[in-house]
Amino acid sequence: MSDCLFCKIINGDIPADKVYEDDAVLGFNDINPVAPHHVLFIPKKHISTVNELEATDAELVGKLFLAAQQHAATLGVNADGYRLTMNTNASAGQTVFHIHLHMLAGRPFSWPPG
Ligand code: AMP
Ligand code: ZN
Repeated sequence: MSDCLFCKIINGDIPADKVYEDDAVLGFNDINPVAPHHVLFIPKKHISTVNELEATDAELVGKLFLAAQQHAATLGVNADGYRLTMNTNASAGQTVFHIHLHMLAGRPFSWPPG
């Protein structure tokens, strides 16, 4: 999508601090980190929200989690722990409408979230 910020990052039109890439997934550091490690994993296919996911996207969504799992191991935070979050629409705080899996690590996280 031409007006999507994360599609522009995928296309190289906007720079990003990339930390992970495979055929289907891109991972880059969040521009406004809320934890010592804050990475966003996005599908290279534009999908606006979780509400738009289709059955054929199941493998792609799995790849987001596997990318996060792999990067957590690379960072060495897998044993200590990390949080994976995907916000959907306004009440959950979604601000960029291209699905993204937040990976937060490097500090304790409370529950429930705010
Ligand atoms: P959400 O609120 O769940 O939609 O998360 C969107 C995230 O994208 C926020 O944590 C922002 O800090 C992050 N973000 C926005 N623009 C950029 C950018 N150009 N590069 C990296 N992260 C960004
Ligand atoms: Zn997009």
